[in-house]
Amino acid sequence: MTPPPFTLSKSEAIFAEAQRLIPGGVNSPVRAYKAVGGVPPHLVRGEGPLVWDEDGNEYVDLVGSYGPLILGHGNAEVREALHAAVDSGTTFGAPTRGELEMARTITERVPGCEMVRLVNSGTEATMSAARLARAATGRPKILKFEGCYHGHGDSFLVSAGSGALTLGAPDSPGVTKATAANSLVAVYNDLDSVKAVFDEHGSDIAAVFVEPVAGNMGTIPPEAGFLEGLRAHCDVSGALLVYDEVMTGFRVAKGGFQDLSDVRCDLITLGKVIGGGLPVGAYGGRSDLMMQVAPAGPMYQAGTLSGNPLAVAAGRKTLEILGRHGIYEQLEYAGSTLQKGLMRVAHEHGRAISVGRVGSMICPYFSAAVPRNLTEVTATDREAWVRFFNVMLRSGILLPPSPYEAIFLSVTHTQPVLDRILEAADLAFREIR
Ligand code: PLP
Repeated sequence: MTPPPFTLSKSEAIFAEAQRLIPGGVNSPVRAYKAVGGVPPHLVRGEGPLVWDEDGNEYVDLVGSYGPLILGHGNAEVREALHAAVDSGTTFGAPTRGELEMARTITERVPGCEMVRLVNSGTEATMSAARLARAATGRPKILKFEGCYHGHGDSFLVSAGSGALTLGAPDSPGVTKATAANSLVAVYNDLDSVKAVFDEHGSDIAAVFVEPVAGNMGTIPPEAGFLEGLRAHCDVSGALLVYDEVMTGFRVAKGGFQDLSDVRCDLITLGKVIGGGLPVGAYGGRSDLMMQVAPAGPMYQAGTLSGNPLAVAAGRKTLEILGRHGIYEQLEYAGSTLQKGLMRVAHEHGRAISVGRVGSMICPYFSAAVPRNLTEVTATDREAWVRFFNVMLRSGILLPPSPYEAIFLSVTHTQPVLDRILEAADLAFREIR
């Protein structure tokens, strides 16, 4: 039986109506498919590595909700934990034992994270960490890297990655000049650029914010010595080093990026995976710093739904499962199989691609070598990538709709699923030749 022709007509109708009522039709910009043309499939269901849209199209999901779904869609144990939590009460505005257990797991697993505060998103986590760094050091400025994304707090919408980069708006209107002036920018993987900023502003810098693996301009691993260099600059100048591990936390290793490196941060921000698919963020670190957060200390930060029982239940169960034997090996296998497979298939069709990867975070670049920084990312062949994306979509593979977003694999991306992706990639590389 021949399959019905690919159509997105139901998604198109919803999207047309949504654009009247929601800016751009979406509640987060990169979902709008502006970078790839066409209409975003409106999804109705997910199971394991698969999702289905309004028109009944089935896709292998490589978006993974931009990171949280490390166990795939609808993990049975997470669902069970959530059902139990719903039955007990959705929010109390009072402390719960679950929050303590979540804090215990995070502090036990993440090196150097002695205390932690739960919030509702990665954005809240980084905003709060920036405030804490400023409060603790009494200094006004932060240093970030072009193409890195730390959520949509004003201080971070300066040379930002992710959707801001995709849409060509790395500096957002609405961020005052005064705020932007306190956000200094350097080049990822380039210690000379870091030194230049420290030479000029060293005594004013409260913190260096860095994604230890840059995941918002694809997937760019830190080069040997880069993080060591940041640590040294911070130590000399008295600035704090903040690892934004909203993406990498509990994804690249059981204790996050610091399990893969000896370079320790002072503060860490978390999100995505720790919510198990529900809205959670966290910031944590050295206890002398965290003790400055209200009500232990004077730096104010609060949240009506912070530590929400449903989010905590999903997050705790997710972290419990991730603590079991062999999970990260499985994720590494999925990542390396896809990396090698994509390189092989592309090569067979005479196309030079490179694949940036750390564990189950992965990004194919249409360039001969994995870019090292934003300038190199923007020099990749974006037009070819868009054609690749669209053939993959029609073949039932849902990639993130931007050449600057990472693919997130899950434990449900097993060999048959990886084979299916590579079969589609074979067709796509042939078609875009
Ligand atoms: N930090 C990093 C590294 C991120 O990748 C993101 C989101 O993609 C954020 C912060 C912001 O998190 P959220 O979208 O949950 O606010």
